[in-house]
Amino acid sequence: MSGDIYEVIIVGGGPAGLTAGLYSSRAGLTSILIEKGIFGGQITYAEHVENFTGFPQGISGQELGEKMHEQARKHGLKILTAEVTGLEMQGEMKLVKTTEGDYTGRTVIMAGGAVRRKLGVEGETRLTGRGVSYCAVCDSAFFRDQRVAVVGGGDTAITEALHLAKFASNITIIHRRDQLRAGHVLQEKLRSEPKIDFLWDTTVTAIEGADMVERIKLLNVKTGQGAEMEVSGVFVSVGTNPDTEYVKTILPLDESGYIITNEKMETPVPGIFAAGDIRHNSARQAITAAGDGATAAIYAQKYLTENS
Ligand code: NAP
Repeated sequence: MSGDIYEVIIVGGGPAGLTAGLYSSRAGLTSILIEKGIFGGQITYAEHVENFTGFPQGISGQELGEKMHEQARKHGLKILTAEVTGLEMQGEMKLVKTTEGDYTGRTVIMAGGAVRRKLGVEGETRLTGRGVSYCAVCDSAFFRDQRVAVVGGGDTAITEALHLAKFASNITIIHRRDQLRAGHVLQEKLRSEPKIDFLWDTTVTAIEGADMVERIKLLNVKTGQGAEMEVSGVFVSVGTNPDTEYVKTILPLDESGYIITNEKMETPVPGIFAAGDIRHNSARQAITAAGDGATAAIYAQKYLTENS
């Protein structure tokens, strides 16, 4: 209920938030988690997660998110489906503003993660859902036997390309440099995938098509030469941005907008913590986000004990 005072309010239902919620509710603290979308955060985009310990055969990202949600609820975590729009200090209390009313907490754990970054080129917004996608697991099946492009050179781009290879006829990874940022394990997997090729030192300057994506315009950043490529789909995987605009007057952020914490997940504001992808220098893995969430909940409990 929005009139109650919670000991812990958790913003975000990914691995960080759900683990924080599991720890705080198991510790007997009145806890509520606020999430606007589906549980599991970005891990739900992953078809098969191999690097979360405890699942030797791997597990689908969606199933992992559902299990985390189920486990936290089983231990008494309350869940609210709403979007968080603001955070204000009221003395030592924290007021969390949401689309479903205001909630007051003695501590807040910010675990809202990060959202996919846009390329910011002409045609991208107009053709989103019409060939432009940010999630291969969600949309690959629409591109069976078609030619698609993946933009980016990090782990997400490679994971998306490998997933697309099960459906599309050809996948071109377009990267602005001549070296991938992605890790070794994923790069090794690329070697055995003949459908995937690369366009190095190249950026996408526009996405074109009448009703659906038909082609992209390209620029070789070394030679300055322009080109076009006919594709039915463009999967944008150029990193993420944190959703921290509404806390920038309260919490110190780094130059990219991530929340600065210490190793206890404490922000400089007593009683406000941050965990997972939303914080500066996060390793941005589901397992490290879960660890952050546990750490934040443990130190939130300590804060509550010391300030009761
Ligand atoms: P990322 O590591 O930040 O990589 C973003 C990629 O997009 C980089 O290659 C970058 O190029 C490129 N890029 C950024 N802005 C661009 C622009 N405007 N135009 C063209 N290219 C642009 O992001 P990510 O791949 O989403 O990964 C995020 C985090 O999640 C990482 O820590 C990653 O390890 C983790 N993750 C892990 C797994 C896994 O373990 N299997 C899977 C997915 C994600 P530059 O290289 O030139 O900067």
